[in-house]
Amino acid sequence: CGIVGVTGRENATEILLKGLKKLEYRGYDSAGIYVNDQKGNGYLVKEKGRIEDLQAAVGPAVKGTTGIGHTRWATHGAPSQANAHPQVSADGRFYLVHNGMISNFRQLKQEYLADVDFVSETDTEVIVQLIARFVGEGMSSKEAFVHVLHLIDDSSSYAFLLMDKDQPNTLYVAKKKSPLLIGVGADFNVVCSDAMVMLSETHDFIELTDGDVVTVTPSKVEIEDAEGQSVTRHQFHVDDDA
Ligand code: GLU
Repeated sequence: CGIVGVTGRENATEILLKGLKKLEYRGYDSAGIYVNDQKGNGYLVKEKGRIEDLQAAVGPAVKGTTGIGHTRWATHGAPSQANAHPQVSADGRFYLVHNGMISNFRQLKQEYLADVDFVSETDTEVIVQLIARFVGEGMSSKEAFVHVLHLIDDSSSYAFLLMDKDQPNTLYVAKKKSPLLIGVGADFNVVCSDAMVMLSETHDFIELTDGDVVTVTPSKVEIEDAEGQSVTRHQFHVDDDA
């Protein structure tokens, strides 16, 4: 299972698919991508099975500058297209990929989302629906994301990559007990579970600490720690044959 993301590149789709292919070694049962351009077009493609199957399902129209991709190793819900990530909020605005598992997702669902129709059995869908719920109640996307992170109990684990269709060049990132790195480029940035899969795009990476929440656009990487304080994290360079 693994995660890739990119913002600020014309060929986001290609970069995501290439990254997912390289993440194959981590094991997976399904895969998916979401990409959008800066004109309001967004594309979601998910498949059960191999990356080749996903690749085949991605038509030439699926183009964008910003996107997220996921290989899934199911913890809640059988391998299926509906359970593959990205998971989407009912209003079609928020797209979330997740590695790990949310232990208290049933309680959260009962407490906040009893009126929502779910399309998957995943713990992840609860998180993306919750974000949409709090945005509907007046929070900004980032406030809702942080608010939901605080509702997740301590025994959970996550690497999250969130997109908001209304902010088409922003990636929201958070991690706890699951690996996730930011890859730094010139006028673009990437996100990945493993630096090796993004070496074709950049050799400079930022290591995140558990609890970090990161806002990534083509020109900036803003990191806040679990207390909401702005922080810088260790940046390192990876050589080609590392
Ligand atoms: N818990 C999530 C699911 O089952 C993510 C699993 C993963 O790490 O791929 O959908």
